[in-house]
Amino acid sequence: MHRTLADDLARLPELLQSARDFAAGELTGLAARPVARPGGDLGRAPLPVEGAGADGALARFAKRWAPGFSGSAGPRYLGFVTGGATPASITGDWLTSAYDQNLSGAAGSSAAALERETLAWLRELFGLDAEHSGAFVTGATVSNTVGLAIAREWLGERLGVDVSRAGAAALGPVDVLSGSPHSSVPKALSVLGMGRDRLRRVPLLPGNREAVDVAALDAALAGLDGRPAIVVANAGTVNTVDFDDLRAIAALKERYDFWLHVDAAFGAFAALSPAHAHLVAGLDLADSICVDLHKWLNVPYDAAVQFTRRRDLQVAVFHNASPYLGLPSGGEPDFLHLTPENSRRLRALPAWFSLVAYGRDGHREIVERDVALARGLGEDIADLPALRLLAPVRLNVVCFTLAEEPTRERVDSLADAVAASGEAFLTPTVYDGVPALRAAFSNWRTTDADTRRVLDALAAASAAL
Ligand SMILES: *Cc1c(COP(=O)(O)O)cnc(C)c1O
Repeated sequence: MHRTLADDLARLPELLQSARDFAAGELTGLAARPVARPGGDLGRAPLPVEGAGADGALARFAKRWAPGFSGSAGPRYLGFVTGGATPASITGDWLTSAYDQNLSGAAGSSAAALERETLAWLRELFGLDAEHSGAFVTGATVSNTVGLAIAREWLGERLGVDVSRAGAAALGPVDVLSGSPHSSVPKALSVLGMGRDRLRRVPLLPGNREAVDVAALDAALAGLDGRPAIVVANAGTVNTVDFDDLRAIAALKERYDFWLHVDAAFGAFAALSPAHAHLVAGLDLADSICVDLHKWLNVPYDAAVQFTRRRDLQVAVFHNASPYLGLPSGGEPDFLHLTPENSRRLRALPAWFSLVAYGRDGHREIVERDVALARGLGEDIADLPALRLLAPVRLNVVCFTLAEEPTRERVDSLADAVAASGEAFLTPTVYDGVPALRAAFSNWRTTDADTRRVLDALAAASAAL
């Protein structure tokens, strides 16, 4: 063994202690440090030849790179939809690395059964019945891709084509209908060979809504003359967190032949709150569902889950048949037959830890607090003369712009000034043709005091524009 490696092996407990101490210092200072750092490129150091040992690597990281990392895990990083990591989920994540299990299959370990237990808990959390089977993936983009891959296989079943063998081209042009799809949906259609251009935008409800007009969807489906289609319903849009009427969409299945995929990346968490659960009523009726976990479950990147009612079709798409890997059998198929990955880390463990540590109630409290904070910031922004709300705060995102001259340039300057203050981080969007900003609440740490700081930073930056 190389002598530095041998030395590290001998000192392993000590090295882990140093890493723990360093991480604890970073996490303790998280709420105080600047939320965003201007991303400096420090150039490239030469490839180390000798090797500095784990202590040396930690020291170099602490000096060279750590100062430039953002506080994205902290309470005032409101860009995109960004969750933090609960204390228990960090413990689980560290242990995932320490055990270094390969979750492609059962392979002589109970770890796959732990992933299944976690999936069953998540299914219950989101109100899904036992007909939905799940698998962990890296994020909602991959979850949407897997769901749409199963949908593609289903189209083949309806048209008498074995897509996994004959290829997507054998389907001919497909019809994918959606109201306000996330950008990962056209990306998935590109990856899957169905084509970005096959996504048809169905009109939205009138009156400042991002939810699909179900009557317009009905008409669009009627126009397909019986051809089977894919409908992507959206439960929680990124700009204004609007929800399609999932029950009404599912009811259209009585008259039309379609696969219902629901992108509930963060909207699914409405199910945890009795006051908001109606927003996702009918989620259970979907054929496939995407839920992100690194957003509102507050587990570390990267984690999401994919649920489907048609595991047989999922195996048809993703099976990885080889004598050395084992064949998909009648019982529980190994995970390598369910998702794009073959080797997989034990991504379920951080979620398992957080669910055991805080339970349904603890995670409900995070969701309800974030919603209340978003509402409060929305009201405060509506009261600021320099800013204008673009939509009601429906759940956890505040979408707003400048009251005067909301040009892209001026709105971006506002975002840049807020980021430069170190107080908060918000990301730009365009809503209904208007350049805008979003403040998305999904972190477990955020409090009233944080939203006051965000508001003060916005007021100061907009006054200085
Ligand atoms: C965030 C998000 C995605 C993509 O999620 P990743 O985890 O970044 O891949 C897809 N759909 C919706 C609605 C989202 O909010």
